[in-house]
Amino acid sequence: MRYISTRGQAPSLGFTETMMTGLARDGGLYVPDAIPTMTADEIAALAGLPYEEVAVRVLTPFVAGDFSDADLRRLVAAAYAGFDHPARAPLKQLGPNHFLLELFHGPTLAFKDFAMQLIGQLMQAALAASGERITIVGATSGDTGSAAIEAFRGLPNVDVFILFPHGRVSEVQRRQMTTPAEDNVHAVAVDGDFDECQARLKDMFNDHVFRDEVGLAGVNSINLARVLAQVVYYFTAATALGAPHRTVDCTVPTGNFGDIFAGYVAKAMGLPVGRLVVATNQNDILHRTLATGEQRKGRVEPSISPSMDIQVSSNFERVLFDAYGRDGATIAAQMKALSDEGGFAVGQGAWEFLKEHFDSGRASEDETRATIARTLAATGELLCPHSAVGVHVAEAHLGDAPMVTLATAHPAKFPDAVEQATGIRPPLPTRMADLYDRPERMTRSANDLAALQTLVREKRRA
Ligand SMILES: *Cc1c(COP(=O)(O)O)cnc(C)c1O
Repeated sequence: MRYISTRGQAPSLGFTETMMTGLARDGGLYVPDAIPTMTADEIAALAGLPYEEVAVRVLTPFVAGDFSDADLRRLVAAAYAGFDHPARAPLKQLGPNHFLLELFHGPTLAFKDFAMQLIGQLMQAALAASGERITIVGATSGDTGSAAIEAFRGLPNVDVFILFPHGRVSEVQRRQMTTPAEDNVHAVAVDGDFDECQARLKDMFNDHVFRDEVGLAGVNSINLARVLAQVVYYFTAATALGAPHRTVDCTVPTGNFGDIFAGYVAKAMGLPVGRLVVATNQNDILHRTLATGEQRKGRVEPSISPSMDIQVSSNFERVLFDAYGRDGATIAAQMKALSDEGGFAVGQGAWEFLKEHFDSGRASEDETRATIARTLAATGELLCPHSAVGVHVAEAHLGDAPMVTLATAHPAKFPDAVEQATGIRPPLPTRMADLYDRPERMTRSANDLAALQTLVREKRRA
């Protein structure tokens, strides 16, 4: 399997190189040069298998040549061993034809663990084989950083530095980053906001001398290996509900288009997914794009579902590439217009393609809170605000096929919003009940490239 860039100018790469590279050198995103397909019999055979076995069968064609079957099995088993539900991604029934896919039983209580835990294992295995070491540096507004730290803590060939805005992440999020004791973990509180953390991260990647010196690598949401890991739970959910004999619709709370793009890949592989419904909060650039055929950046309005507070939806470029018949030059021009002029119009044919696969909706802050309260009363399920955005939008799109709404985080990760909506403060799962008692360790840094580079050089294990 080879991977090609959406902008058509970077060299094609194998799986491991794609995972290690992240962003393509022409500024594009890597996608499979052809999406592998599964037959209806192969899909039918997945029903009832353990999550790990489904993961091996779905991911094999993507990693073939880079990881042996035995290695993939071992790494997948290690990746999901720390999840506290035997199904890994259990389904709960919310209504006659509406199901919730709980993706928050991993170590940091958000769906990002599904991808991050696996790429931690895959990267470590690839590095152990080559004898190389890398330094992962990431910027986070909360969930990605903790998922990365959990995934890379203690791995021998990796140091991980996570930049977060000092004083601007929730206490649960901060403690998840500052309490791991392993000496390859470095939580860095930067005196600045999230955009400034992102900007310094970009500066580090653009300093090629530094980049080579420390073996800089990234794990942000455009990393294709993350997206591919997320394809698996679409297969477990749909086969549990009758696929391939029955079509299943999916609603996905999304901002960066990563999680829903994984659903699109599952569909392209042959899984009978009907509608893929994009659910946004008040930062609704994706909903507006699909509704109007024009993508135009607005201002980020902070919401109670902060992990979807974005105005640049990086993974959207991947589906746009298909919508334009895989024409890299057009994608490069559209993305230039987005950054130079703040927007672009989607061509008629490409817009038709998008509407053929995707529906969309948005939830206001009031609608999100009301959905948390209403769902608790009707079903006993306590939703996090992101999942509530999904349930609100899904309810407007229920049809004949079973609807699966992805629940992206545990309610205890966003206790203030949940308490405000219901009067109930969701407790942390027992395995992390002592989070507030564990000692914290972090390094404070100025919002300054040179200071951060010195910190990375001094703290990484040589
Ligand atoms: C990251 C995140 C999302 C959005 O994920 P996308 O990559 O934008 O699809 C939604 N909910 C939670 C809880 C998250 O952490």
